[in-house]
Parts: sequence; C-alpha cells; structure tokens
Amino acid sequence: MIYFDNNSTTRVLENVADAMRPFLTERFANPASAIAQFEGIPQAIQAGKKRLCEALGADDARQLVITSGATESNNLALLGAARANQERQHLIVSSIEHPSVMEVCELLRAEGYRISKLPVNPEGIVDEAALTGLLSADTLLVSVMLANNETGVIQPVGSVAEAVKRYDPSVLIHTDATQAVGKIPINLSGDLAEVDLLSLSAHKFHGPKGTGALFVRDADMLVPILHGGGQQDGLRAGTENPAGLVGMVTALTTLLSNSQALAEVGKLRDRLESGILAARPGAVILGARANRIPTTLNICLADIDADELVDRMAARGIAISTGSACSYGARKPSYVALAHGLPYEQAKSCIRLSLSIESTEQEVDLFLHEFGDVVGSSAPSLRYTRETA
Ligand code: PMP
Repeated sequence: MIYFDNNSTTRVLENVADAMRPFLTERFANPASAIAQFEGIPQAIQAGKKRLCEALGADDARQLVITSGATESNNLALLGAARANQERQHLIVSSIEHPSVMEVCELLRAEGYRISKLPVNPEGIVDEAALTGLLSADTLLVSVMLANNETGVIQPVGSVAEAVKRYDPSVLIHTDATQAVGKIPINLSGDLAEVDLLSLSAHKFHGPKGTGALFVRDADMLVPILHGGGQQDGLRAGTENPAGLVGMVTALTTLLSNSQALAEVGKLRDRLESGILAARPGAVILGARANRIPTTLNICLADIDADELVDRMAARGIAISTGSACSYGARKPSYVALAHGLPYEQAKSCIRLSLSIESTEQEVDLFLHEFGDVVGSSAPSLRYTRETA
C-alpha cells in the first residue's frame, strides 16, 4: 500500500507502541485507585502532561486537559466556553474549520447564538481585515484553525489573536491545531501567547487514536461538558488514559526531535506536486502561494471526478482522499475548496495527498506512475458530468 492519507490518520510508530504497552498490560490500574500510586501511574500522567506542556511552550501542566481527541477538545472549547459565559452569544469562526467546530456552531446557532464566518482569500488564508468588522461587544470567542486539514494552509493565528485582544482582551481565542502539531513549531508563550484554547489529537502525528488534548490557559474560561467522577480537576470526567497520553507524548517528542525528516517530507511533497502538474498542466493547487505544512498537497484536476479517482487509486492499493475523511461518501464538493473561490464543478475535482515522515521517494514515483496510468487511460470515464452533481 502507498499511504498518502496521513491527514486522515497516521501509523503508530513502533517506539510509541512500545512506550504504551506497559500501561496496557502491566501498569493498568485505574489512575484514581489507591494501588495506582504504587504503580507510578499518576506520576506517569503528571510527567506526560509536563512533557506535552514543554513541547507546546505552555507554562503549566495543569493547563492541559487530556481528551479523546480533537473532536472532543473542540467541543469542550466552544461549548464549555459558551456555557461558562452566557452573557455573550456571538462566535466568529473561519469558513474552513473542521466539522467538529462547525457542527458545534450549528448547535449553538439553534440555541439562539449568532455565528459569523470569517472568509478566506483565494489562497485560503483568513481575511484579517474582515475580522474587525465582525467583532462586537457580544463576541464570546474567535476560532481560527492553525493549519487546514484539506489544504495544509497555515493561518496567521498569532496576529488574529493579537487583533482580537486589542479590540477586547476578554474575547477568547481558540485554535484547532490538530494538523499543525508535530509539523510546525507551536509556542504558547511566543507567537501564540494570546491563544486561550488549543486543540490537538495524537493520531495525526503517529500517536494512538482516541487521545488528544485541550490547552486551557485559565480553567475559569470553561465549564465541563462531560460530567461524572470529577477527574482532571473536574474539567473532564472519565477514567484517564495513561497509555494514550504516554503514546501521544512519545509520538510528539519523536517528531519534534526529527525536524530534518519533516524538511525531507516537504521536498517529497514538492516532487509530488511538480509530477502531478507535469501530467495535468491545468491543475490548480489550493494554497499554492500560501505557507503550508510540509506534508499536505491539495490539487484540483479540472474535469476529473475526485471521488471516482480516489476509489480507483484505492483499488490499486493507494490511499488518498478528497478532503476530510469525515465527509467521505458525501460525494459533495469540499466546502474548503468552495471557500477558496473554486466553482462547484472544479471543487469536485480536488484530491488531498498527505505524506508523513515515513513517506519515501520511491512511493512518490510509484504514485506518479499509477496516477498517470489511471488519469491517462481512463480519463473519459473519470470526467465529471453535470448529472453526477
Ligand atoms: N480538527 C481537524 C483540523 C482535523 O483534521 C480532525 C481530524 N480529521 C479533527 C479536528 C478531529 O480529530 P479527532 O479525529 O481526533 O476527533
């Protein structure tokens, strides 16, 4: 298999699985139980949170809530903030957020909240000038993702946060950093010092599925959305997952100590990009001139039906996608591609190729060969037709 669908999920690295194993098979006691102390489990959780805190440039391990992944982190950030401060009923989110932000906004909208969408320019970068016109005395929170999952375009979150705080320091800033963590430096004491809430998920950077985190600068900003045993200072009830946390931290530190490998991925991505452009000169790359994470390429192939192409590549053992895995089967054009200003038909032709530190030059070349074959020989039946819209 050639696996170019790493924005969807990644393989757990061997050293990550090894680090997790003792917490699954030997030191398995409930972290809240008396015996767990003697197995060093709460200590391992504290140490894991401390390492995660350092990797993110945060000040204090108590600012991290360990969750089941970025969907939960995003729900906790937005719903938790809305429930904590019901005086304000306006949220601003970028028009390219992941469904785990968008759908929470729809829920709040149904409850009477006002939701404003911050547009992006044709390169997929949020329109900072439009932000000031959207802010109001009622604004509770602004959410702009750090890197987009479909295009990899990096957003100017630091400067958005500064502009918002200049307007009103009490407006909360949330960033969904799921696709950025492990791929670009994150510094919550540096360029992201004005960010209040940051979501991440281990399975996007070679950690396990089902573990993520929400950075919460000040616990008073939120109320919990999961209620029960009062774990994690009451902010997230539920038995903690030491294996998941240890896996997440091991994966992140492995990636961060391997910046050379990430730079190499960027070169592979560029090789893939030029290879596809050579085969399809009219293709459009989303965010071509924007700053992008090194792993991601989103390319729109004009009159080709991307869903059909993804299926044909899968039949050859090649994993790619049309965008967010969550929308697979929807057979609708990506709203991210539409937000870039692409016409409906062209937006149906976008494929996302997402590499990882495990990707190789041989895979890129083999992919280009198979791609040329599928697109070249079968082009007529891959053509997008109005009837399939
Ligand atoms: N946000 C972004 C930007 C994502 O790419 C994803 C995963 N597709 C999520 C949130 C949801 O993450 P999880 O699978 O950990 O719930």
